[in-house]
Amino acid sequence: MKTLLPLALISDVHANLEALQAVLEDIHSHGVTRIACLGDMVGYGPDPGPVLDTIEKTCDVVVAGNHEWAILHGTEGFNWLAAQIIDEHRTLLEARHRTFLENMRIRHDEDGRTFVHGSIRDPLMEYVFPSRYQLYDPLQLIELFESIPVLCFSGHTHIPAVIREDLECFDGGDVEIEKGMKYIINPGSVGQPRDGDPRSSYALFYGDRVSFRRLPYDVELTCRKVGGPMAHRLRAGK
Ligand code: ZN
Repeated sequence: MKTLLPLALISDVHANLEALQAVLEDIHSHGVTRIACLGDMVGYGPDPGPVLDTIEKTCDVVVAGNHEWAILHGTEGFNWLAAQIIDEHRTLLEARHRTFLENMRIRHDEDGRTFVHGSIRDPLMEYVFPSRYQLYDPLQLIELFESIPVLCFSGHTHIPAVIREDLECFDGGDVEIEKGMKYIINPGSVGQPRDGDPRSSYALFYGDRVSFRRLPYDVELTCRKVGGPMAHRLRAGK
């Protein structure tokens, strides 16, 4: 099967409907034929139900993240605030949302491309950081690249990044994808960026290049809905 391009990659929407709508509008203005969602649609933000409905309608590939897992199986390992919000989201979701979550895979493969939330060996929980972050681990990356067929699309860190097999890391903008090289590609977070830039992040994949996009959205509206410590994080991009 030949994958249609460009492919839009979105991740970590985290119940932020305003951010998701801004990103989808931009995606559709680029003639995108397919959208892949790399998990963590719920958690943190104010609108888990409407976000799940929108993703179910618009995305072609959807894999579950640790927050979807926590809705279904409990919040073990979550910090206090994240766990409290998941418990609240569980009460906001309807039966159709639960069915959507229960049918979600944690990994999708096609044409040498793997789609996960965390990493290829631990699709739900493992963080993969690029070199400018303290948690960057070259040995981890060498091990991961051994199991990656060609490309692995993942999210979870909320940090946009391209990591090449030779461990060269790219932060954003337009990144060339060289034939014969393996890559890990993270589109960053739609609904809760953590790289100090509060604008929504996502990526367009054209086969031979990745184009990262940053989009402003109505952060203040989302902050008014969510309140508390989450509003501060959304404004600061943390
Ligand atoms: Zn997340």
